[in-house]
Amino acid sequence: MADIFVGIDMGATHIRICLLDQKSQVILTDRQKTKDVLGENLLNGLTDFCQKYINEHNVKSIVIGLPAAISADRKNVLSVPNLNMEPQNFSDLVPYLSKKFNCEVYLERDVNLQMIYDVNFYKLQNKIALGVYLGTGLGFSIWLNGRLFLGTNGVAGELGHIPYGDKNLLCSCGNQACLETLCSGRALKHWYEEQQFEFAIEEIFTHQCNHPFIKDYLTNLAKAISTVVNLFDPHGLILGGGVMDMPDFPLESLKRLLANHIRKPLPYRNLTIFKAEPSLFNGAIGAALYASQHIGES
Ligand SMILES: [Zn+2]
Repeated sequence: MADIFVGIDMGATHIRICLLDQKSQVILTDRQKTKDVLGENLLNGLTDFCQKYINEHNVKSIVIGLPAAISADRKNVLSVPNLNMEPQNFSDLVPYLSKKFNCEVYLERDVNLQMIYDVNFYKLQNKIALGVYLGTGLGFSIWLNGRLFLGTNGVAGELGHIPYGDKNLLCSCGNQACLETLCSGRALKHWYEEQQFEFAIEEIFTHQCNHPFIKDYLTNLAKAISTVVNLFDPHGLILGGGVMDMPDFPLESLKRLLANHIRKPLPYRNLTIFKAEPSLFNGAIGAALYASQHIGES
């Protein structure tokens, strides 16, 4: 039986899997609808999902990505506002899968797994890199010289929840005035729905780049990104996420706004900006890469 590493990326709509061999080559990727996989029972649903793909292989390690805050030991979920589940639904998951497949199992914040994929793709493993992923929320990930920076409690990098949003709006995290109230896919969708445009939301940047709301939206985003670049002095800045992947997203305008606020001459002069390549399976591949890197610690 060949040894493999398993990465799972669990989102609200789809759950994706990637298997890597010992040389970190992708053996398989696939996806199914989350509601079909989980059914009534998370533990049984995920076990059957894994079993189907793992088949004859010998599993060395499993990493499961979630849109969630994860405990410092990467074994428990602290909060999971975007999955319509409670943290306690996940409390038996790691011991259950560990026993079932006789291997180490870790949970990880989904944005960190996208970051691991991008760090590997752009060969930034031994550098300092920051990832800003503008999706439903405003995801942020910190890569410091060979590993993720997770913080004391495992919850570092909550850029979307710094208090620079609309003071009249409640954030999904429960606090008032988080940046995500202004600067997230959720905020963009909310504005779009108020406008009653006659085009689909995917065309928002094709038609409305000069609208004051979109200009402010980009300015807020640029200020947030410039702040973290000025704080961390990274080698690389990775920009991605569903909103930045929309047609005609004004990436060059965003870069010009960044140039206004990133400190000169450094870190501005030496900063390299990378665009994260959109792919259905980046998070699952990142999870499997992380699974393969955990081996030395177990
Ligand atoms: Zn918040």
